[in-house]
Amino acid sequence: MLQRTDNTKKYIVQTVLKNNRLDMYKYYINSAINNGYELLPVVEFYERRNEPGKHLVLRHDVDYKSISTRKMFETEKKLGVRSTYYFRQSTYDEKLVREMEECGFEVGFHYETIADYIKENNPEAIEQTDIEKCKERLKQEISDNKKKYNLKSICSHGAPENTRLNISNNVLVENANYEDFGIILEAYDKEMYEHVDVHIMDENIRHGCGFAYKDNPIDAINNQSRNIVFLAHPNHWYATALQKLRDCIALLTGKYYLESDRVFKRIAGANEYNNM
Ligand SMILES: [Zn+2]
Repeated sequence: MLQRTDNTKKYIVQTVLKNNRLDMYKYYINSAINNGYELLPVVEFYERRNEPGKHLVLRHDVDYKSISTRKMFETEKKLGVRSTYYFRQSTYDEKLVREMEECGFEVGFHYETIADYIKENNPEAIEQTDIEKCKERLKQEISDNKKKYNLKSICSHGAPENTRLNISNNVLVENANYEDFGIILEAYDKEMYEHVDVHIMDENIRHGCGFAYKDNPIDAINNQSRNIVFLAHPNHWYATALQKLRDCIALLTGKYYLESDRVFKRIAGANEYNNM
């Protein structure tokens, strides 16, 4: 059994001061490898979801443009694993994407179509007509991105606008024919998640020792969970100088907690649109 060393206040403080959470990432990855897990990018897992064996799916949402994305990519290259990076329109980095594709990593689109629509039109609620407009807009966004890189999958970004109106961007492709959108997969695909036993999402190190839900890699490996999705945002693993300062101040004023009680929800606001 692996022992957890990543769930104490001391760990949080030391990680913030040393800015070395990527060392713990290496430990998670090596622990999975040593315990018989095959590590896969998202679409590759989807295409092989019915195969036997234990899988750890590595997914990254690049919410911010910073050196942390390259640091995470270099770390994974050294470990000999491949993952999927989802870039927002605003965080897309052409040089980095080229390198990722050359190394066999997957690159996808972190879309926020409904959130953008809400920002521009400020509706009180999202109606069917809004959904139809957003679907067409998403198709255009995907087609534009496909001119720049080998986009196979997309993944919904959770913006404050989505939370405010309680609607995830992925309602746009829920139960849709992916071919109509020019993709193989949406990363929160309903059928794929029937094969996923644990969905782990990272957080700022001060929140739940760096995990958004109760699940974390060490417990999932100890439990021999068969298929694990591990979503890590690069900015939570390597801090900029400003972020480090913010984290230090927050720690000094007691703004941290050791465990999260949040529960993962695959999609919000979909029920109204299930029959479209
Ligand atoms: Zn995001």
